[in-house]
Amino acid sequence: MFLLRPISTIGPNPNRASRGIGFALLVGVLLGTALGFFAGHYLVPPAAPPCPTAPVTPPQATPSSDGGVLTSIDGETIPDGKQADEKNKVRSLRLKIRGSLAASLAREMKEAREANILTAVLGRLLVWWLDATRDVMRDDELKIIFEPVAGPGELRILALEYTSQKMGKTFSATYFEAPGASYGRYYSADGQELELRIIDGPIDDYEQVTELMNMAGRRHHGVDFKTDRGTPVRAPFRARIARRNWSTRRNGNCLDLVYMDSGVHALFLHLDKILPIARPGRVVEAGTVVALAGNTGRSTAAHLHYELHKSSGRLLNPFEFHKTERLKLEGSALSAFEIQHRTLHDKLQRLGDKE
Ligand SMILES: [Zn+2]
Repeated sequence: MFLLRPISTIGPNPNRASRGIGFALLVGVLLGTALGFFAGHYLVPPAAPPCPTAPVTPPQATPSSDGGVLTSIDGETIPDGKQADEKNKVRSLRLKIRGSLAASLAREMKEAREANILTAVLGRLLVWWLDATRDVMRDDELKIIFEPVAGPGELRILALEYTSQKMGKTFSATYFEAPGASYGRYYSADGQELELRIIDGPIDDYEQVTELMNMAGRRHHGVDFKTDRGTPVRAPFRARIARRNWSTRRNGNCLDLVYMDSGVHALFLHLDKILPIARPGRVVEAGTVVALAGNTGRSTAAHLHYELHKSSGRLLNPFEFHKTERLKLEGSALSAFEIQHRTLHDKLQRLGDKE
């Protein structure tokens, strides 16, 4: 506090003023040198690519009828002219893949924007079974029931069946909001979660993993957890805070931790706030809340980007580095799920029977 006083007292006394200006210059030079050193020292680690929440590229599709049927929930085909009115209802769709997933959906849906959204929403589910760029093949069959959700044009898939030629099997998932859970999730027929969960990971509660680590195609260096702004973010292991906010334009508020046992670097990006405890140099115990998730930097929705790399820069997949699990519904929640699953998949089945 004392050191700052000369600047704040710049005023009518010329002597005091010149002393103050001299001091300010000195502080400026020292600060500049320190920042230069800091930047030079810390520019080595890999730059994070744009986060997954980026808008979906419009698919290139030639409109044609390819055996797909856009229907209402009770299996009735909706005439073209009425589709706009039906947009706010639960709908179902069955199609054979021709070309990419995006192109196949664009062909069957009247609105390119809706097709884009559905492609993205579907991609987040299929990613747990197959690689959408490599494994989606001609004549694969997709059946879904979906509905609009509150918010700007989002869609939610309620039930899904995907028959893969390459894998020789049909995958299925059903959306279910378990009693007491903050978010609905996707489950397989036996009531097991579709997504893997990290045990004692950086975030307890989130809606969905919206992007996995992917080093092919659109490269993404970490895993994205879609969550509400303000969700606590923890240090999963005992860790030293290495740096904070080194590239805010791209990463938003960001934090770099080094796990004490493994020496692995963990990056948390797009944070809403970094808590005061997360000061560079400080060591925090496993489970300590160090920040709050947010939507800062190059990000279009609140989420936590969690990225791991060795000090050599080699990236690690968080779902391989951490212990993981898939939770299973039990008791009355499982019973309620089974009813919902059966009801929705009976409807999907009837879609198939229409052929
Ligand atoms: Zn990300």
